[in-house]
Amino acid sequence: MSEYHVPCECGMTVAVEVSKAGTTQTCVCGKAVQIPLMSALRRAAGQTPMPLNALEHFRLLSKEGRLPDNVSCPITGAPVNDTVWVHVQCEREEVRYGRIKLWQHLLLFLFTRVILFYRSGRPEVYGRDTAVEVPLGINHAARSSFATARGQRFLKEALNCSPTYSQLLREYPDAEVWVIDD
Ligand SMILES: [Zn+2]
Repeated sequence: MSEYHVPCECGMTVAVEVSKAGTTQTCVCGKAVQIPLMSALRRAAGQTPMPLNALEHFRLLSKEGRLPDNVSCPITGAPVNDTVWVHVQCEREEVRYGRIKLWQHLLLFLFTRVILFYRSGRPEVYGRDTAVEVPLGINHAARSSFATARGQRFLKEALNCSPTYSQLLREYPDAEVWVIDD
């Protein structure tokens, strides 16, 4: 299922699936075409950077038996025979107060001789709460390591064993991850 079309210098387009985001594909003309990351692909297609129903997207992949997609345990390297669920907090909603604009500042100073140093303005919401819960394939012998795992680097390295999750982490390098107790 080709979902996106990336233009090549030759004027033709390369049809790519979401899973090819961030890779290099060869156009029929023979040139290598750099495929943008998923967020950029979606933006170019007039979509939101990540599906708003990202959770549903991963649930669907999981239901179709396409997740977890790592074949060996990130810890032991043994074949996958167990699953841990990992919460990936991609983005958090953040409310910021914009600084008062310079001309407003000057105007205010002219009339009141008051210089404002505090932040003022309407609150603006940046980002949105985006979180997904994904199954990570492990070997049963490593289950206890994951049960107590809190380290972001450890968990992200484990997630990077899956092509799908590594892409997710490239999109959201500052994501917070933790294992869901079951
Ligand atoms: Zn081409």
